[in-house]
Amino acid sequence: MNVKWAKRIEELPPYLFAEIDQRINELKSKGVDVIDLGIGDPDIPTPANIIEALKAAADDPENHRYPSYVGMLSYREAVSHWYGKRFGVKLDPQSEALTLIGSKEGLAHAPLAFIDPGDIVLVPNPGYPVYRVATTFAGGIPYDMPLLKENNFLPDLDSIPEDVRRKARIMFLNYPNNPTTAVTDKDFFKKVVDFATKHEILVCHDAAYTEIAFDGLTPPSFLQVDGAQEIGIEFHSLSKTFNMTGWRIGFCVGNKKAIAGLGKIKTNIDSGVFQGIQYAGIEALNNYTLGIEERRKTYEERRDIFCKGLEEVGLNYYPPKATFYVWFEVPEGVSSKDYASKILTETGIVVTPGNGFGNYGEGYIRVSITIAKERLIEAVERLKDVKL
Ligand SMILES: *Cc1c(COP(=O)(O)O)cnc(C)c1O
Repeated sequence: MNVKWAKRIEELPPYLFAEIDQRINELKSKGVDVIDLGIGDPDIPTPANIIEALKAAADDPENHRYPSYVGMLSYREAVSHWYGKRFGVKLDPQSEALTLIGSKEGLAHAPLAFIDPGDIVLVPNPGYPVYRVATTFAGGIPYDMPLLKENNFLPDLDSIPEDVRRKARIMFLNYPNNPTTAVTDKDFFKKVVDFATKHEILVCHDAAYTEIAFDGLTPPSFLQVDGAQEIGIEFHSLSKTFNMTGWRIGFCVGNKKAIAGLGKIKTNIDSGVFQGIQYAGIEALNNYTLGIEERRKTYEERRDIFCKGLEEVGLNYYPPKATFYVWFEVPEGVSSKDYASKILTETGIVVTPGNGFGNYGEGYIRVSITIAKERLIEAVERLKDVKL
């Protein structure tokens, strides 16, 4: 039988990193010593106290059964408690917090809960690809909010046309930002709250990187701004903060009606997160300062190594104040894709072309500094040999 794909996947380009993975495997099979600065996946192991919590929970048969759809109350209490301590935001664990199978899962399901076919979704470009794809899966229409360097990689809300505002139902935002590494403050979030309140748009803020920040910076939560809980939800992840990308656990907090809507979708699609992993999540959140400064320092040191290298090579970059990425410009007259290819062929270093995150990422490259310092130094040395 000729299996026919639905249009929604037929028209989709291959997932960016799946394609890059294939290139890496090709090179490796030819014996090339590949340095992978492609995907953002922490190389440092999950802290031992979190692993111990999982081990203990795995032995308890109570945890072998189906978990609750919305997540264990004790996990949602830990989430609420953490939001109080870290951001001064008060949340009701019963109605304002939801366990997710990683924040990607929640972000991907959000449009199904809030979008009818033909509704507009405001998406940052460049941006995490899930916002756009999930929008089209739900029959929504993505409307690009360009993130330009002259606006410090923040969307220009004033430039969104009146008819788009009227049809928009969701706005996706993400600060600290992947891929541009831009950070923002409560003043900008306040502008977003005013805009969204006026036009009745649900703000879906992806806060995956609030805990990976440098030079003493503490990025805010969107929910810290007055009025944000009326119009917004925030997606968070244990993946980046605690080096738990493989564990698949995150959460969504904020507006009750929105949390209930997303919960209703999930009830019909998945059956929650293994309780052993939720216990590990509780341990992580309750002791969130444990080792966090060390992890930040590690990334800070790597950032400095890589940025100094870019300076020596003569490439323009944006010194990251947060995230574990570096966002830099390709030389004049070269495309992101060609430059990324050139780097890979000439040095064996994998980088991500900026246009993989949307056409406004053209002209840029993103590297992930989730590799050991020694390898990063080696990468910088190899980059010096790339001919323009
Ligand atoms: C890594 C990442 C996520 C996904 O995190 P998970 O919780 O592992 O699904 C979400 N948003 C952005 C911007 C990310 O970079």
